[in-house]
Amino acid sequence: MISDLTITRTREELDASRGDGPVVLVPTMGALHDGHVQLLKHGRPLGDTLVASIFVNPTQFAPGEDFEEYPRTFDADLERCAEAGVDIVFAPTVDTMYPTGLDTTVMVDPGPLGSVLEGAVRPTHFRGVLTVVAKLFGLVRPDVAVFGEKDYQQLVLIRQMAQALCLGVDVQGCPTVREADGLALSSRNAYLSSDQRQQAPALYRALRAGAAAAADGPDAVLAAARRVVDDASIDLDYLALTDSDLGEPVPGQDARLLVAARIGKPRLIDNIGFTLGSG
Ligand code: AMP
Repeated sequence: MISDLTITRTREELDASRGDGPVVLVPTMGALHDGHVQLLKHGRPLGDTLVASIFVNPTQFAPGEDFEEYPRTFDADLERCAEAGVDIVFAPTVDTMYPTGLDTTVMVDPGPLGSVLEGAVRPTHFRGVLTVVAKLFGLVRPDVAVFGEKDYQQLVLIRQMAQALCLGVDVQGCPTVREADGLALSSRNAYLSSDQRQQAPALYRALRAGAAAAADGPDAVLAAARRVVDDASIDLDYLALTDSDLGEPVPGQDARLLVAARIGKPRLIDNIGFTLGSG
C-alpha cells in the first residue's frame, strides 16, 4: 500500500507537498531494513510530515569503495516507507544534490573527530557525510532529524555540525537494531558469505563482554572485549573506549566501546554504551 506516499525528486516537489507543520527527516541510502524502519517509527510522532530521503551519496565513498555495488532496492524501499507511515520520500538525483559536480568547492570540514576511528580508515568519509546531510537539511528544512546509533561517530559528528553551524535541527539518535544473534543490521551484511556470517556476531559478543566488565574500569573493558575477538580470529581495524562524545573515557560517566573489522568484503562496525566504573 503505497498510495499515500508522495515521491519527490527536487526541492520544488518537496516544497509543494511538505505542509506547514513540523517536518521530521530520516536520511538513508536505501536498501531499507528493520533498523531504518525503527528510525522512521521513532520519527513518525515527532512532527506532522515524515520525510525519508533515499540517496546513495557518492562523496562519502572513496575510490575503490562499494559505491557502484551498494544495494539499490527502490521499489521495496517504498513499500517499507509506506508501512512505517512516511508521507514523503525524497529521492534526488546526483545532479540535484551536486549541481556543480562532485568536486564541489564547498564541503563541510568535520574537524578533528573526522579523522579518528572510522575517519582514520576512511579519511574523506565524514566530510562527504556531513556535506550531504547539510544539503539535505537545506533542501528538506526539517525540525527534527533521526539517525541510528549503529553509526555512532556519524551521529556525534552530525550533532556537532547541527550545533556548530547553527542549523536549528534537533538531531535524535535511535538504538541499534540487531539480528537474533546480535549482529547489527546493515545493508552491507548482504556481502557476507555464510562462514563470515557465522563469524560476524563475535563483534557484538565482544562489546557485551566489554560492557560486562565496565565496573572494573577501562583496562578490564578493553581486555574482555579483545579476548572475544581474538578467540573468533577477527582482525580488527580498531577497538576503542571513549566517553559518549568520543573523547577520553571518564570513570563514573557514560562510555562507548566501538569496534570495526573487515570480515571478508565488508567492513562491519558496531558499538555499545554503558557507565564506566573506576576498577
Ligand atoms: P544508511 O542507509 O546505512 O546510510 O543508514 C541510514 C540511517 O540508518 C543511519 O542513521 C544509520 O545509522 C541508521 N541505521 C543503519 N543500520 C541501523 C541499525 N541496525 N539500527 C539502527 N539504525 C541503523
